Amino acid sequence: MVLESAGSPLRLAELADPEPAPGEALLRVRACGVCRTDLHVLDGDLAEPKLPLVLGHQIVGEVVTSAGRFDPGARVGVPWLGWTCGECRFCRAGRENLCDRARFTGYDLDGGFAELAVADERYCFALPDGYPDEQAAPLLCAGLIGYRSLRFAGDAERLGLYGFGASAHIVCQVAVAQGRRVYAGTRAGDDEAQAFARSLGASWTGDALAGPPDELDAVVVFAPAGELVPAALAHVHKGGVVVCAGIHMSDIPSFPYELLWGERVVRSVANLTRADGEEFLALAPTVPVRTDVETFPLEQANEALDRLRAGSLRGAAVLVP
Ligand SMILES: [Zn+2]
Ligand SMILES: [Zn+2]
Repeated sequence: MVLESAGSPLRLAELADPEPAPGEALLRVRACGVCRTDLHVLDGDLAEPKLPLVLGHQIVGEVVTSAGRFDPGARVGVPWLGWTCGECRFCRAGRENLCDRARFTGYDLDGGFAELAVADERYCFALPDGYPDEQAAPLLCAGLIGYRSLRFAGDAERLGLYGFGASAHIVCQVAVAQGRRVYAGTRAGDDEAQAFARSLGASWTGDALAGPPDELDAVVVFAPAGELVPAALAHVHKGGVVVCAGIHMSDIPSFPYELLWGERVVRSVANLTRADGEEFLALAPTVPVRTDVETFPLEQANEALDRLRAGSLRGAAVLVP
C-alpha cells in the first residue's frame, strides 16, 4: 500500500521485491500495526517523507534472508527508529533517539504496509514468545514509545493518560501493575473508551479537558490536541509533569504562567532508543501486557487509517498481508 502524495489515500500497488543492502534483513511481513504517526505522515503534518513511501513502523516479520544476526525463519520486530549515525553528539551520549541524521521506518525508509520489507538488523528486536503476530505488532510503537513516556512521568502515583488509544491501553496495564492509580481522560462522552479504560484497571475515567476530581502527579498526553496541555497543567499539582507523547500536536493555546509555576514541567518524548525497546519487550510479558487489536487485511489500510482518525477503534489497528 503506497503513499504517493500527502493527503491522498494509499494505493494498492505491485512493487518490485525490496533488495536488502549490506547489514539488512529481508522480511516477510506477518503483521504491521497502524499508528497515529502513519496518519500524520499521510495527512502531511510531518514535513518531507520519502515519496513514494510504504508506511508502517510496527512490523512483525519473518526473516527470509539475514545479514548474519538472525536465523532464517526467526520472528523479529521493526520499530520506528530505523537507522542512526552513531557519530553525532546525541548518538555518542546514548541518546540515539535524537540523532541528527536518524532515519525512520515508514517515513525515511519503506515500512511494513507491504508483503515484504527490509530492515537494518541492528535496529530490529527479538520478540517475546507468547504473543501472536498481530498482538505483538502494537508493542513496537504504541507500547515502547508509550513506555518511554511513562518513564518520563517519573514515580507519579496518580497518573493521567489523556487520549485512550493504542498506546494508553498498553501503558495503563504497565502503570497499574506498578501500583499507580490511572486516570484515563477521553473526549467528553466517549463511553466506549472509558469503559475500555476501566476494564484495564483505570480508577477514574472522564472528560480529559475537565479533568479528574483529584490532583495528579503526572499526565501523559497521547491525543494530538494542543488544548490538552494547559488543561493537564491545571490538573497536576506543584512539581507535576505533563508528557506529550505524540510526534505532532495541534497548536498549544497560550496560557497564564500560573499554570506552569510551581515547578511544573511540560516535555515531549521523541522516538525511541534501542535500549527502550529491549527494556519494554522484556517487561511486557511479565506484566503481562495484553494488546487489544482489530485486524484488517493489508489492502484495507485506508479503512484502518480512517477508523483511527475517527477514533472508532478499540485498542490498536493491525494490518495483516
Ligand atoms: Zn508509531
Ligand atoms: Zn547520530
